[in-house]
Amino acid sequence: MKYTGSCLCGSITFRADSVKWCGHCHCSLCQRAHGAAFVTWVGVSADVASFEGEVHWHASSPDSERGFCPACGSTLFFRSKRWPGELHIVRANFDAECVIEPRAHGYWETHVSWVDYKDDLPKKVSNDG
Ligand SMILES: [Zn+2]
Ligand SMILES: [Zn+2]
Repeated sequence: MKYTGSCLCGSITFRADSVKWCGHCHCSLCQRAHGAAFVTWVGVSADVASFEGEVHWHASSPDSERGFCPACGSTLFFRSKRWPGELHIVRANFDAECVIEPRAHGYWETHVSWVDYKDDLPKKVSNDG
C-alpha cells in the first residue's frame, strides 16, 4: 500500500511506502507551530518516504526542524536528531483514503484543557520516549 498526501495548495506532495506509527502530540511547540490543540503525526522511515515541491524548513529547536509550504503555510513535516532516520508527517495532510489510526497521546503533560478527550488511548508524558 502506498501512502500519499499534500499541502493545502497542492504544490508540495509526499508519499511513503509504509508507515511505522501514528500518535497525537500535545507538546507546546506543535501547538504553536500548527495553531492547534495538538497535532497527529505519522512516523515513517525516511528511506521509504519522499516529497516533491519547495519545502521550507524552520529550526524549531537545536535538534529539530519543521517543514512547511511557503505558498500556503501548511505545516507538513518534522525531523529531528532525536529520531534519526525518521520523517514525521502530519496525519491530516494524507489523502482521505489512507487508513492510519492513532495509537497514543504524547507529551500529555502539556495538553490543553479546552478539548474534550474521549478515547481510551494511552496517555504518555514526554520522557516516556
Ligand atoms: Zn502549499
Ligand atoms: Zn509535538
